[in-house]
Amino acid sequence: LLTCSVRALADAEYMRYKDPKQPLNARIKDLMNRMTLEEKIGQMVQIDRSVASTEVLKKYFIGSILSGGGSVPAKQASAETWINMVNDFQRSALSTRLGIPIIYGIDAIHGHNNVYKATIFPHNVGLGATRDPELVKRIGAATALEIRATGIQYTFAPCIAVCRDPRWGRCYESYSEDPVVIESMTEIIPGLQGDNPANSCKGVPFVAGKNNVAACAKHYVGDGGTTKGINENNTVIDRHGLLSIHMPAYYRSIIKGVSTIMVSYSSWNGEKMHTNHELITKFLKNTLHFRGFVISDSEGIDKITSPAHANYSYSIEATITAGIDMVMVPYNYTEFIDGLTSEVKNQIIPMSRIDDAVKRILRVKFIMDLFENPLADTSLVNQLGSQEHRELARESVRKSLVLLKNGESTDKPLLPLPKKAPKILVAGSHADNLGYQCGGWTMEWQGVSGNNITIGTTILTAIKNTVDAETKVIYKEDPDADFVKSNEFSYAIVVVGEHPYAETVGDSMNLTIPDPGPSTITNVCGAVKCVVIIISGRPVVIEPYLTSMDALIAAWLPGTEGQGVADVLFGDYDFTGKLPRTWFKTVDQLPMNVGDPHYDPLFPYGYGLTTKAAQM
Ligand code: BGC
Repeated sequence: LLTCSVRALADAEYMRYKDPKQPLNARIKDLMNRMTLEEKIGQMVQIDRSVASTEVLKKYFIGSILSGGGSVPAKQASAETWINMVNDFQRSALSTRLGIPIIYGIDAIHGHNNVYKATIFPHNVGLGATRDPELVKRIGAATALEIRATGIQYTFAPCIAVCRDPRWGRCYESYSEDPVVIESMTEIIPGLQGDNPANSCKGVPFVAGKNNVAACAKHYVGDGGTTKGINENNTVIDRHGLLSIHMPAYYRSIIKGVSTIMVSYSSWNGEKMHTNHELITKFLKNTLHFRGFVISDSEGIDKITSPAHANYSYSIEATITAGIDMVMVPYNYTEFIDGLTSEVKNQIIPMSRIDDAVKRILRVKFIMDLFENPLADTSLVNQLGSQEHRELARESVRKSLVLLKNGESTDKPLLPLPKKAPKILVAGSHADNLGYQCGGWTMEWQGVSGNNITIGTTILTAIKNTVDAETKVIYKEDPDADFVKSNEFSYAIVVVGEHPYAETVGDSMNLTIPDPGPSTITNVCGAVKCVVIIISGRPVVIEPYLTSMDALIAAWLPGTEGQGVADVLFGDYDFTGKLPRTWFKTVDQLPMNVGDPHYDPLFPYGYGLTTKAAQM
């Protein structure tokens, strides 16, 4: 009898879910059987780091924390500071009754872009120009290491939006207007999450281990198809259009084992995606067999009604029953928790829905070994901004550049530029500005200006690094025509473009280059042979100045490694980039995408010259 009861006691104490030798489903089931409603709802909640504390984590059993936008522990925080912060949160979560680890998420969308010293890769539009999925996979792997170097395990990337209108402020987060290119770029997922050996595990999330992170395909679905590119707006398209343009990359991501999918703020034919049961539950989960978790966008739940937050209990009901599993409620989490709890208790939301959500969240946490390895691996800190990653970013920059013009004809090309020349001019607001070079989602949500923001090489510095020691490089940000004429420059390099922006702030109905960009082009190019380099997240109005320039390069938002621009400019490598988007003549042509009737671009989709002919 005594032996029996001891055994019973031992069985009760045996925490099957903590045993990595147990099959995944057995662990999930065992843990769920032990969980109270409060603990289950807590798992579904993601809050911002600025409001997270031991007390909050323990009281509400919070399942996830994020650094939203540019929510960082301190400006220029070191990898160690990040690690300590994440580990402290983790220890609080581990000290709860069941010790379920948190998953910490961040927007590492072009490298680990909130973190000082991290390698910043070109934004997706530039990667789309490379047409090189294998490169993008390597970028994913490098980014994962840098994220893990700070103790974080989850990134809200990749954005697999198909931007169909460059007036959209998030167009640079999209690889291309072409769904086929976006599909190919989902190779970043096995880069971030690691290679899935059982590649055929359709729909089951996969994260290889402590050098990888959980990825998030976003924003489901049709975010890049809104009317006039207005952010968070309405995508008017029939079912066939939605399935053939905006859906294929989701299907591909699921096959590749993406762990999570974020729902779009936008609507499809007038219905908010956050409440779309048909597309989230029926299509994504039931038809496409997605087994990871679906996450809301930040405060997406508040934006269901207009005015925002007008009928919160309805919003909770609609989003959770639509099939959203984890809810990003950065600040307003107590109201959400109270509301959801009472809706479950009052049987407005069935317990089975909560169980489905929690099962999915736990599945990802188990699969990525968070229970076994909840704390940061401090041996990775040197990965942050490593030389190897910077080399990779530099290679990406080289491959992302698109040569749009090189002389009037191939017999009078300007590029490649000679490294040896008596005196050259470098001009333009974007020639020596690391913040501009990186664009939005860099150090701060809206991006920043200046060179002290992080470590990197501006285009000006890169040019100086590359030219012959005897070549005199004169830099003047906005020279007037007289200055240019009175100096005898061999040639000039003008670098102008858009200022950083993110999301709605970046919506633009005119797509002009901000002042003084156009006059810098005119002043310089009117007086000396010039190459113009455009730093922008999308095609901009360029036609009026095109004849004045001898050469034109689209450099997109290249990130910290400006050396990649000089590598190609001076002929160490040739141009290989192809336009990932149609370059319009005037904004009233928009939207205009490849394959449209009456397609009449300035430069067509896929366009891109090389200098080979020039060098022959
Ligand atoms: C954006 C998402 C992002 C989230 C968290 C939202 O405003 O739409 O893309 O992942 O914020 O920062």
